[in-house]
Amino acid sequence: MAVNEAQYKLIIEELAKKQVQLVAVSKIKPVEDIQALYDLGQRDFGENYVQELVDKQAQLPADIHWHFIGHLQSNKVKYIAPFVHLIHGIDSTKLLQEVNKQALKNNRTIDCLLQVHIAQEETKFGMDATELAEAMKLVASNALPNVRVKGLMGMASFSDDAATVRNEFGQLKALFDQYASNTFTTLSMGMSGDYQMAIEEGSTMVRIGSLLFGARG
Ligand SMILES: *Cc1c(COP(=O)(O)O)cnc(C)c1O
Repeated sequence: MAVNEAQYKLIIEELAKKQVQLVAVSKIKPVEDIQALYDLGQRDFGENYVQELVDKQAQLPADIHWHFIGHLQSNKVKYIAPFVHLIHGIDSTKLLQEVNKQALKNNRTIDCLLQVHIAQEETKFGMDATELAEAMKLVASNALPNVRVKGLMGMASFSDDAATVRNEFGQLKALFDQYASNTFTTLSMGMSGDYQMAIEEGSTMVRIGSLLFGARG
């Protein structure tokens, strides 16, 4: 089995103590690996590509909570709207409006996180603080009754410099605290290489792939 069972058990024990949720990131990995982790009890999985997610969802148990963690194009929301559990990467009000529209068509309310750009790299997606404020204003106006914005998501720089990464997580946490409420409770930050630091900085949900499934080719 390609899944690292011992590592999984250590991680869920560690996260349970800190009341942090685990999203197992299974992009590019075969359905057999997802099933293996499912059989150990994992129910929340994260995928980055729409077509891959749709294909896997059809083949795997119906009670899996599928998280979409990649960059989502507006014209593809319709494919995941019938079943997606949480969309992490909302990076524009336009995308949020499209999710609302597709959720309504499916008679659902879809949970979302707004993605904030905290890294130094230009390649990473996300809103700046001004765009975030605009999106939160739109949400507060109740114009989007079929989406629930549950919190924020961010990705730190891919850097060996711990101080840089910690600072970026701290910035995201500070923004999160500005909007925190009874319904705005999820802070998705931290991956295989930096999740412990992310938790120290206030993460409530980590997205871990390679530590569980091995490196992606
Ligand atoms: C791939 C990916 C992850 C998981 O990365 P690992 O380093 O394998 O843990 C987490 N979040 C996002 C947005 C990703 O694209």
